[in-house]
Amino acid sequence: MSKTDSFFAELADVVGDKACVTEEQALEPHVTEWRNVLHGRALAMVSPGTTAEVADIVRLCSRAGIAIVPQGGNTGLCGGAIPDESGQQLILSLARLNRIRSIDAQDFSMVAEAGCVLATLQDEARAVDRYFPLSLSAEGSCQIGGNLATNAGGINVIRYGTARQQVLGLEVVLADGSIIDGLRSLHKDTAGYDLKQLFIGSEGTLGIITAATLRLYPDPGETTTLLMTLPDAGSAVTLLAGMRAGLGDRIESFELISRYALQLVECHIGGAALPCELSGDWFVLAEVAVGEESAALGQFLEGAVEAGQLADAVIAKNLAEAETFWRARHAISEAQKYEGPSIKHDISVPVGRMREFLVRCAESLRGQEPSARPVIFGHVGDGNLHYNLSVPEDLASDAKRVGQVTTTIYDLVAELGGSFSAEHGVGVTKRTYLEQYRGGTELELMRRLKHALDPQALLNPGKVI
Ligand SMILES: Cc1cc2nc3c(=O)[nH]c(=O)nc-3n(C[C@H](O)[C@H](O)[C@H](O)COP(=O)(O)OP(=O)(O)OC[C@H]3O[C@@H](n4cnc5c(N)ncnc54)[C@H](O)[C@@H]3O)c2cc1C
Repeated sequence: MSKTDSFFAELADVVGDKACVTEEQALEPHVTEWRNVLHGRALAMVSPGTTAEVADIVRLCSRAGIAIVPQGGNTGLCGGAIPDESGQQLILSLARLNRIRSIDAQDFSMVAEAGCVLATLQDEARAVDRYFPLSLSAEGSCQIGGNLATNAGGINVIRYGTARQQVLGLEVVLADGSIIDGLRSLHKDTAGYDLKQLFIGSEGTLGIITAATLRLYPDPGETTTLLMTLPDAGSAVTLLAGMRAGLGDRIESFELISRYALQLVECHIGGAALPCELSGDWFVLAEVAVGEESAALGQFLEGAVEAGQLADAVIAKNLAEAETFWRARHAISEAQKYEGPSIKHDISVPVGRMREFLVRCAESLRGQEPSARPVIFGHVGDGNLHYNLSVPEDLASDAKRVGQVTTTIYDLVAELGGSFSAEHGVGVTKRTYLEQYRGGTELELMRRLKHALDPQALLNPGKVI
């Protein structure tokens, strides 16, 4: 028996034949990333159903020297969840590890396995009159393990924080197959280093997340959805400051959207166009946890119009209309996919410097690549913008020009004290930028941590560092 045959025989002993896939056609969706730009090849894909099985597989791979690529919903946008082109890496799908182990409304917590789909967790929380706030456009298919591995952000960070802030405890399988059983639901715990935070955002390079204790919140109650038209993009920042002053922490979401982004939705996604005519080039879609009759909301809107920060505002008449507003927002990424090639940037800058970033970046790119069409949207409250460009084929296929465009954007981001990766992670596509913009002592420490936790470099090699 060859080494590979005996590896597969041992794998089948752990998970059974059905949970291990080797046929090329069945592997195809798992070796291609969401944008359909990057493709890899896999030795196989294995889908364990328990944490013990994950640990056994990791031990097996460690003995055989086989690299593991953890995969959740494969909605990541940096190529982190797919294998390289060698055909020698094993995809470890967490999809079957999808039980909610417990939910405790009194304790405002639930324990969910890594393969639980994000939207399912939101529904389960709602069913016990609680709220799980992590929310992003891919929530119908991304998994909580992937969300934690990427420290996902999304539309509610302004009030509740990123995925990192939603975790009370974590269960992780380490590179040697040992298990960190850290599913505590404690709100206070200063016993040593906070190890769970090391794995959150590590994109499968330090350990495999198998379950998490998640923080739940009270239902936010009555909310109002507003679609506001701005005189210019930069006004979003002053508008947000005014809204914060008036409504305090009751701002659930505050999303900047360009007209062009909405036009792409109208053009490509049937049924997702906005139900109202809009004039203007920039909009903010906001959700606030107050009723539409709220005096504070009325005062804020009046003040913003008087101050010239707001050209117009539409308040969703009912839940159905609010959903149509959000449907349009959530459809932007998909619409841009149908529009053709794109160059995507997921950046953050200090909120106070966002206006300067928007003005200077637009000016630079207009001169450098006039054919690039900005499709800008994002989470202004977090200083995070998806500064995407839809580009013609000749630009998309010219690596040098693409690199120059990205450098223009990232250099400005760095000058303003921002980050080239706000919420999508580094994966494989942004590795060189980590060297460039986060080098020195920080990167050196990341390398030492990686080596300490994964000395054989078998956990998602080639990703992040
Ligand atoms: C339309 C669309 C909109 C999006 N909007 C947002 C947004 O608003 N905010 C945002 O932050 N992201 C967004 N994303 C990106 C993506 O959805 C998130 O990064 C998400 O958290 C990935 O989850 P996933 O389960 O699909 O992970 P995958 O894509 O499968 O994996 C992502 C990374 O995590 C690793 N990984 C996965 N599961 C585990 C595990 N259990 N243990 C260890 N490592 C693991 C993988 O190896 C990979 O490196 C969007 C994506 C799409 C397609």
